[in-house]
Amino acid sequence: MPFCEDCAKYWAPSAMNDDGTCPTCGRTVEAPKVQSTITAKNLDLKRLAVGDDGDPADAAAPWHFKLLMVLLVVYLGWRFVQLLT
Ligand SMILES: [Zn+2]
Repeated sequence: MPFCEDCAKYWAPSAMNDDGTCPTCGRTVEAPKVQSTITAKNLDLKRLAVGDDGDPADAAAPWHFKLLMVLLVVYLGWRFVQLLT
C-alpha cells in the first residue's frame, strides 16, 4: 500500500496517478506500473484462453470430453428407441 509522507496518508494503488505520483501533492510515491490498465480495447480474450504461445491446439476439447459426448448421444438415442417401442 503506497504511503505519501508529505500528506501522511495511505493511497489505494487505483487512486494513484498513472505515473505513481500522489494525487494531491504530486510527490512520487511508488514506481509507475509496468502494465497499463486493461481496457476493452487492449483486452485479448483469445490470448488469455489459448495462452502466450498462441497454439490453438491447447484450446481444443480433450479426447475424453469428445468420448463422453459420443456416449451421451448413443445413450439418448437408445432411450429414444425405447420410447418408440
Ligand atoms: Zn501526497
